[in-house]
Amino acid sequence: MRKKVIAGNWKMNKSLNESQELVSKIINGLGNDTKCDVIVCPPFTSLSEVHSLIKNTPVKMGAQNMYHEESGAYTGEISADMLISVGCEYVILGHSERRAIFNESNKSINNKIKAALNKKLIVIFCVGELLEQREKGITTDVVSEQITKGLDGISSENMSKVIIAYEPVWAIGTGKTATPQQAQDVHSFIRELIAKIFSSVVADNLIIQYGGSVKPDNASELLTQKDIDGALVGGACLKADSFLGIIASA
Ligand code: PEP
Repeated sequence: MRKKVIAGNWKMNKSLNESQELVSKIINGLGNDTKCDVIVCPPFTSLSEVHSLIKNTPVKMGAQNMYHEESGAYTGEISADMLISVGCEYVILGHSERRAIFNESNKSINNKIKAALNKKLIVIFCVGELLEQREKGITTDVVSEQITKGLDGISSENMSKVIIAYEPVWAIGTGKTATPQQAQDVHSFIRELIAKIFSSVVADNLIIQYGGSVKPDNASELLTQKDIDGALVGGACLKADSFLGIIASA
């Protein structure tokens, strides 16, 4: 039985004080008895302080990006070791905003995934189609290419440290959610693909999150689908009440 995983991607939001306030409210609202895994992904500038606050609580922390090199002349970049040194256990890689705004390719995402797994970070690997790709009927081709190239060279053993987040790009930050059936169809396609690339055991154990305008009022319908094992939440994770509402649905 796969445990549900709810992650909040804070994106480029929250100053240090605001981050401390938000994570404190989440911790207080959560109590100690959570039936799902809860991950917060604040901006780099808040990671260290958020980590101090989540110690001895069920909340875990991830970063929103990293670079694949270990160290050196890469101005503005952050390495896996740096993330680990401030308490990250997870890292989001391949988010559609990184792909679209910062031109990240399947190859560069693959390099990052390999580097993160080498350092034992758990990767939340995002995939998803654009609206025009869905309308052309090529959603599964797009997702299949992203997954095949993104996970190239990853061992079955390391797949226990990978979460896939299916995020249809047209549903991110738009208020348009995929219907539970649309999401379930792609999740089930992803699980079958992973069974083909790796094995049915890897596929059965894989956590596949849905992301795209998840809110407290649509979370339970999505999260009760057979192959939806959690949510990657953007907008709704910036307020403690709505993030806690989604966690309660899980
Ligand atoms: C995201 O950016 O990963 C996301 C799912 O955003 P939102 O929930 O705002 O659509």
